[in-house]
Amino acid sequence: MPILKIALPVPLPTFFDYLPPPGCDIAQLQPGIRLRVPFRNQKKVGVLFDIVDNSEIISSKLRMAQEILDTEPLLSPACLHLIRWASHYYQHPIGEVVETALPNLLNQGRSTHIQADILWQLTTNGLAIDIESLSSRNHLQIELLKLLKTYPQGLTKQAIKNQLPTTINSLRSMEKKGWVITRTLIPKMSEPLVGIKSSKLALNPAQQKVVEQVCENLNHFYPCLLDGVTGSGKTEVYLQIIAKVVEQRKQALILVPEINLTPQMITRFEKRFHSPIAILHSKLTDKERLLNWLQAKDGKALIIIGTRSAIWIPLKNPGIFIVDEEHDAAYKQQDALRYSARDMAVFRAHQANVPVILGSATPSLESFFNVQQGRYHHLLLPERAGVAIHPEFHIVDMRQQPKRILSQQLCSAIEQRLDQQQQVLLFINRRGYAPLWMCYECGWVAHCQHCDANLVYHDHDKRLQCHHCGANRSIEQHCPNCRQSSLKAYGQGTERIETQLHQQFPQATVLRVDGDTTRSKPAMASMLAKIHSGEAQILVGTQMLAKGHHFPSVTLVGVLNIDGGLYSVDFRASERVAQLLMQVAGRAGRANAPGEVIIQTYHPDHPLFTHLIQAGYTSFAHASLQERQQVQLPPYGYLALFSAEARQLSLALAFLNDFKQQILSLLPQTMQLWGPVPAPMEKRKDKYRGQLLFQATQRKELHRLLTQCMPLIPKNPKIRWSLDVDPQDLL
Ligand code: ADP
Ligand code: ZN
Ligand code: ZN
Repeated sequence: MPILKIALPVPLPTFFDYLPPPGCDIAQLQPGIRLRVPFRNQKKVGVLFDIVDNSEIISSKLRMAQEILDTEPLLSPACLHLIRWASHYYQHPIGEVVETALPNLLNQGRSTHIQADILWQLTTNGLAIDIESLSSRNHLQIELLKLLKTYPQGLTKQAIKNQLPTTINSLRSMEKKGWVITRTLIPKMSEPLVGIKSSKLALNPAQQKVVEQVCENLNHFYPCLLDGVTGSGKTEVYLQIIAKVVEQRKQALILVPEINLTPQMITRFEKRFHSPIAILHSKLTDKERLLNWLQAKDGKALIIIGTRSAIWIPLKNPGIFIVDEEHDAAYKQQDALRYSARDMAVFRAHQANVPVILGSATPSLESFFNVQQGRYHHLLLPERAGVAIHPEFHIVDMRQQPKRILSQQLCSAIEQRLDQQQQVLLFINRRGYAPLWMCYECGWVAHCQHCDANLVYHDHDKRLQCHHCGANRSIEQHCPNCRQSSLKAYGQGTERIETQLHQQFPQATVLRVDGDTTRSKPAMASMLAKIHSGEAQILVGTQMLAKGHHFPSVTLVGVLNIDGGLYSVDFRASERVAQLLMQVAGRAGRANAPGEVIIQTYHPDHPLFTHLIQAGYTSFAHASLQERQQVQLPPYGYLALFSAEARQLSLALAFLNDFKQQILSLLPQTMQLWGPVPAPMEKRKDKYRGQLLFQATQRKELHRLLTQCMPLIPKNPKIRWSLDVDPQDLL
């Protein structure tokens, strides 16, 4: 009897051996199919990886699989190989890697043949109805109209039911009046229609050179760093290279760091190509995700755009991988399987023997290093495309104006832009009104009970919130320490800046864009529409506004309070601040009018500012690389962070110490093992956290050691541990 090696979604690092299901056709047993199997007293869905002759388990103990779920493999040999590689590289149980790679519905054992949804949608007549004029007796219909107006693409009956009480009769009577219709969401499963719609832009010489260089190398592994300043036309370069890839009927996978950047990217692609585009991000429903996944897998979609998790999508005929804003930390997953989608893109391109483009205006030090080592080709776009030019920087010394939130220089610059009907973007990387709720008598500060963190004051509901665990409570009237009533908000967040702007520029329309104002998908879309129409004049936002967006009318960018990052303990902090600063600055002056950037700081002489402004990001990055080399930190050294959490710090540290004692004798001389120490943020969500840090000069050595160590992790039900290979931050 053949033995089936099956990956199951359980936290154990092995395959599980099963016998084929009773009466099954052995020919159907191909790696990559799913099977349902008995596991302990449950049923689980697993993926077949291998078929072998022998098992280490005695045959009387082997169980039979229950049923085969797929007639042909869901995962190609290349996908299975990718999963094995990730499991080994990140030292993560293979079955959990499979679970990350597959859409939910497939993990649940559902079929790949799915029913298309019926959507209810407003007709043109329905859209034109003046809701105010309807009699209030039709309360439910009014609510339905309002709801459907916000979803012009239509909603399923279930989605409507989730928001409004019993509705089907009201929908039917509205259908009779000609206000709504139903349509089926037909999965776009037709053959790919390949063609290019709108005329492409005439490339400038630098763009031309990049496009030619990549297009000459489409038929083999060709890793490159596209190092192009903000607004240099990287997207146009992607589009023209992809046109060539699609012409050969091959697929292009494009990753963007943030879901909010997908609509902009999709629009630019839809304008250019007559080809179905598969989209993958976290806000899709399970069904949408599966449909898009299948389109990519079956080769029906030639263009696939998505966020981090899209890196797992199977491609029938891969032609190129593109990672836009490759430096962005969002490409690293920070829990469970801690993979880097950027690094995996390079692996996949190598596997498929095709190019991979890592694009950024502020490349990561890792990518610069890879260029220096001759591993990546360096493609440069040194100038802005079209007529736009680089913005001008000004540093404002806030020590001279300690009482002000907005400096005089910034205020007059804002005034000037408002007069000229141009837009202003103010960047502050903190949502809420103020980061501290504090007693001005005795210095007491409101703290989260569950975390090592201060509570953030939110003015709209006058409550205090923890941004780490979500704890939320009302404010006290008297200081719990000295009983005085001198509690006040201290410091600045987006809400406070918004309030301040309303006071100082009452005539201007201010729009705040942060995690609080953009919870829902339609909210972000309508905000972006207000920015593009010019209705909003001053934009206040966190980094979600700073990244990647193209707002042609923004000519002034104000950076408020970036100082926090200047003195952080994390070794990547200065790289992050520099990238963020250049990215925010990159929103200014992207079209005809020149841009200006004003940085408010209490440390105007900080070398980071002077270096960046006088010598530019590339020079800053090279200097930072030298510093990293001196201390053998990435990219010159390799790290893995082993963390443990427990109800008490001593428990976590004792566990880590046990582990350390187990492995010390295995440690080669060239490697270091630091700790155990408490994590920089010692307590989070009521758990205390400790860390051990592995540091190596050779990646191979690090991996060899990790592989040896994993089986030696002490078993302790009171501890939750995790391993992060190539950690992005050590917090
Ligand atoms: P990046 O992605 O590098 O920040 P974009 O691709 O968004 O830059 O380009 C910035 C702007 O320049 C866009 O409005 C784009 O249409 C325009 N652009 C790009 N390439 C050209 C070109 N060759 N000629 C004229 N305009 C261009
Ligand atoms: Zn908390
Ligand atoms: Zn007090």
